[in-house]
Amino acid sequence: MKVIVTAGPTREFLDPVRFLSNPSSGKMGFAVAAAAAQRGHDVTLIAGPVSLKTPRAVKRKDVVSAREMLQALEDELAAAQGSEETVWVISVAAVADWRPKTCADSKLKKSRMKGTLELVRNPDILKTLSLKRIKNLKLAGFAAETGNLLAEAMRKCREKRLSFIVANDVTESGAGFGVDTNKASIVFPDGISIHYPVMSKRSLARRIILQAEKL
Ligand code: C5P
Repeated sequence: MKVIVTAGPTREFLDPVRFLSNPSSGKMGFAVAAAAAQRGHDVTLIAGPVSLKTPRAVKRKDVVSAREMLQALEDELAAAQGSEETVWVISVAAVADWRPKTCADSKLKKSRMKGTLELVRNPDILKTLSLKRIKNLKLAGFAAETGNLLAEAMRKCREKRLSFIVANDVTESGAGFGVDTNKASIVFPDGISIHYPVMSKRSLARRIILQAEKL
């Protein structure tokens, strides 16, 4: 199967030197891409700004903003169209939900900046892809939560029409941004979930790919 993985944060610039973003390191997404390649799949990694090495046998496209990430995915899916092979999009990226309404061409002067920033919603990448109803396309996502983990994950899984969502409570020790381990559950739309203990992101990534292969 073909596997397209998104990883890392996105950056949403308000001028050439300032942006909104989040602390995603990209480690989980890179581990998913590496695990898929190790299983022999055709893997493309669409990465936000991170400082990680491209895993072996993985094609990589670097992007900056959420809209560029969506465009890169659409280009990949257009290229895969017509093939009978299953295409998975596994969206691990911590996509910024909002961006500044405008991006200035030159650095904004401190003295001229107001104390408020006008924001507009970014597209929901997974939801946008799910609405296209592309044949052979399967979607999986990640839900980083700080409470009400399984209920929130289930809601997102259904709302974005995912085959499954990987839920992790980022407040738990051994889980979340930057670290090499994670504690997660895989939640399916029918309400069934598999709970995993703390393990390396590498091990979790392998389990995620094995689940995708079964569907
Ligand atoms: O709604 P929430 O951001 O928590 O959902 C997380 C999942 O949705 C992740 O898989 C993330 O990559 C994806 N997402 C997206 N587009 C956005 C925000 C999140 O595809 N604008």
